[in-house]
Amino acid sequence: MTQKPKVAFFDFSSCEGCQIELTNFGDADFLELLNHIDIVEFREAMSEKTDDIDIACIEGSFTRESEKDRLIAIRNRAKIVIAYGACAHTAGINALKNHTTDFKKAVYGQDADQPHLNSNDKALPISHVIKVDYFAPGCPMSKYEFLNIVSHLLHGKEPVIPTYPVCVECKRNETICRYDVGDHCMGQVAMAGCGAPCPSQGIPCEACRGFCEQANLTALENTLINKAGFSASRAKDKLRMFTNALLPDTSNP
Ligand code: SF4
Ligand code: SF4
Ligand code: SF4
Repeated sequence: MTQKPKVAFFDFSSCEGCQIELTNFGDADFLELLNHIDIVEFREAMSEKTDDIDIACIEGSFTRESEKDRLIAIRNRAKIVIAYGACAHTAGINALKNHTTDFKKAVYGQDADQPHLNSNDKALPISHVIKVDYFAPGCPMSKYEFLNIVSHLLHGKEPVIPTYPVCVECKRNETICRYDVGDHCMGQVAMAGCGAPCPSQGIPCEACRGFCEQANLTALENTLINKAGFSASRAKDKLRMFTNALLPDTSNP
């Protein structure tokens, strides 16, 4: 009998919400996947470990120089690395701290000086440190997309992640555009693949999946200002929510 691929899960700076998504995944497709892989390391669900990994799935962003060796060691142990969730893919909301110097005080107040809160100035996608083979974007990541990526790899096929914007999926759903009801939205620049659930539920897309190919950020800013009535600074801030680490200038505004 052929040996099942060994799959391991790791976390860096994150809320671990994407891991929770996986452990909550009780539907038949995921249970079927478990018949075809061996999960050999997954801190959220088991205590066993191994050195030998076929697929390493990494959640969370790189925020501490001291974590570099661990990240590189995981890369060296694995044949394939999947970065899953916005924190690993774009540095996600962790990168909000990249444009402010007083982030620890703002969040932790008088406890801000505790040593375990020390991290380097910028939160970065893990692809800044190691080679990443595939991304499962989103906050949280789409468990169905994750399943699709792993399933393609098990069948020796290349996973397909859309490069077009969320607006395409939104139009396919025949959802009324948020701009037509006096709201705002970032679907024009956001990477599709989620099925545009936010506009479908009457809330704006915040580009949690990162930017699509050829995203026109200047056009988005102008739309936020001219159509949604945002101030110039609010329009710029809007781009930072999940994608701050991807912007050319992440220093102080
Ligand atoms: S991507 Fe979102 S849900 Fe996933 S770990 Fe990061 S903050 Fe949590
Ligand atoms: S609601 Fe958002 S995603 Fe949908 S068409 Fe309008 S801008 Fe695009
Ligand atoms: S619609 Fe936008 S914010 Fe909502 S899941 Fe998709 S990319 Fe993320």
